[in-house]
Amino acid sequence: MKDYYKILGVEKTASEEEIKKAFRKLAHQHHPDKQGGNESKFKEANEAYQVLSDKQKRAQYDRFGTADGGFGGFGGGPQGFEGFDFSGFQSGQVGDLGDIFESFFEGLGVQNRRPTYRKGSDLEMSMEISLEDAFSGITREVSFDTFIVCAKCSGKGGDLSAGTKNCATCNGRGEVREERQTFFGNFAQNRVCPTCNGHRQVPNKPCPECKGSGRTKGARKVRVEIVAGVQNGQIVKMAGAGETGEKGSGNGDLYLHIKIKPHNIFTRQGDDLIVKKEITAWDLLLERKIEVQTIEGKKIKVELPSGLNLREYLKVAGEGMPRFGSFGRGALLINLTLKSPGKLSHKAQKLIEEAEGA
Ligand SMILES: [Zn+2]
Ligand SMILES: [Zn+2]
Repeated sequence: MKDYYKILGVEKTASEEEIKKAFRKLAHQHHPDKQGGNESKFKEANEAYQVLSDKQKRAQYDRFGTADGGFGGFGGGPQGFEGFDFSGFQSGQVGDLGDIFESFFEGLGVQNRRPTYRKGSDLEMSMEISLEDAFSGITREVSFDTFIVCAKCSGKGGDLSAGTKNCATCNGRGEVREERQTFFGNFAQNRVCPTCNGHRQVPNKPCPECKGSGRTKGARKVRVEIVAGVQNGQIVKMAGAGETGEKGSGNGDLYLHIKIKPHNIFTRQGDDLIVKKEITAWDLLLERKIEVQTIEGKKIKVELPSGLNLREYLKVAGEGMPRFGSFGRGALLINLTLKSPGKLSHKAQKLIEEAEGA
């Protein structure tokens, strides 16, 4: 049986803090990524720490001399980088090691470090249109500031006919070594070279305008076509109309949020339009035709049917909004309200009473 306390060099009565401190020191000392590091001692310390840092496991270990509850340890055989197995880290068994794990993963070059240029970001904008615009559809030009293709070098980043040379920042390695502060101390790791983006070469004559990125800040104009029947809140995607990427690495997209301004006459309800209309008792009694305005601005005459229920909309088919992505139009729904006729003359009253009795 392994003496975990001895491995960590602490008393059996050591506090959590003392155990953590002892492990930190040992892990730092034996870290396999370090000169003179000792992999087996590192694993051993880690195994001990796994048990002693866990209240339950420690209690079980103290009592039975084992903490075997499925704890697989650190090493699983000589696989992975330089015979070092990281599976113990990866599965999340090593609580405090996340940071260090990441750093020596990177240090060993595990991370894929293909040359990379930044792709353009997606952009979002909102666009306010009138209900009439939504009815007919509209083409509008929008202008906004973003990254655009560098006009001087046409996005190439430099004068390519002048050739390229080794990047001075990384000496043509494509990556740079950086010190990084971790839980256990400083570790060096590699990163993609920020100057050449991992391409190792830079143009002999980089573009002075864009400093070689192939893009500059500027105004982009986009023609936006809004289809008839567009709904409030709908998002129109303009592929490739977002930010320009570095050196032609692809543009982002532009997302336009459509906002339809409230209308002073019509209220939209799906593809239907609701309009208010005041009528008189005489209109109703005499089943007169009423006149209403449509979204196109034309006036139409609508007959008041007999047996009309004022609580229901009077429906005029085909005079609403165009159905988006489909055919035909919704309806115009007339919301009728009855205007009080005011005080009736004596004669009028008599005539109505006669008519009622007839
Ligand atoms: Zn470089
Ligand atoms: Zn340029």
